[in-house]
Amino acid sequence: MGSVVGIRNRKKNKMATQGRNEKCWCGRGKKYKKCCGRFTLDEMMSKLSAYAAANKQKNKLIERSLKFLKACEIDGGDAFLVLVDPVAKNDIIDWTLVGGREVGNHVREALVTRRILAGCLPMFCLVKDKSAEWGWRGEIDATLVGEECRDEFIAFASLEGQVVAATLRGKMAKEDGWVTAIPWEDLSYPGMPLKPRPAGTIRIEVNIAKRTITIVSVPLRASIEIEFTPDHLTGDEVDDALFEARHVIEALRQVDPPKRLVDGDRVEIWRVVPDGEKRLLLSMTMPVTPWLTRNDFDVHGDEIAN
Ligand SMILES: [Zn+2]
Repeated sequence: MGSVVGIRNRKKNKMATQGRNEKCWCGRGKKYKKCCGRFTLDEMMSKLSAYAAANKQKNKLIERSLKFLKACEIDGGDAFLVLVDPVAKNDIIDWTLVGGREVGNHVREALVTRRILAGCLPMFCLVKDKSAEWGWRGEIDATLVGEECRDEFIAFASLEGQVVAATLRGKMAKEDGWVTAIPWEDLSYPGMPLKPRPAGTIRIEVNIAKRTITIVSVPLRASIEIEFTPDHLTGDEVDDALFEARHVIEALRQVDPPKRLVDGDRVEIWRVVPDGEKRLLLSMTMPVTPWLTRNDFDVHGDEIAN
């Protein structure tokens, strides 16, 4: 089983295959027709999608969903949280499954946040359980939704749990249930709290002859080259290289994260000499407090001081 996967199911095949007079699979001990079977699929979905759309406390739901997943992992076993979009598109219901110990907290948080902000609901957890027939059991936390739609929630979650399980076991016809791994490179989401990137080395390579500066950010694995004008050149290559590099440092202190300098960054200023060789001029660790004052910066140019 993948750690972050999308599951899609065709809505037409999602109605219960359980006998109406049998005990309901949700475990509440009633006959199916008097329990979860009293709702149609459309009734459950319209109730839940209206609830998800009106939910003003999505942040709370995100937090509680992540806690629920953690709680299901408590015995050191694997667990997967399943989120569903209760609005079917082209008669297809999309699921997202997230979990597994190899999936770090920030990935979980980003994924669950994105899905819930987009209107999905956390439905149930698949919990590894050796004593269960298939090695997994489903767990539903009915308190994740308001009381007004709890019955529909339990009915839908139990029903869908069966479908997801059947899909993962390969017991569903391919065209009715399929699984896709989700590429997960961009972890951002609206309102995401900014996390500082880890400190690293920023190399500033100044080529006076070509009037270019190359900024190499090791932590971001990125580099850019910019050109500068000869306006401030004095003819002393070392001074000029330091001066131009300071412009860059000042800019790096103000750009948007994660390009911005963070505490602990090591900044190196290199001069590229005419034969292409690079010579280290300066290397320093960035302190928390500003270390370049306006006065330091304006040493060479009167016009900047104004
Ligand atoms: Zn039931």
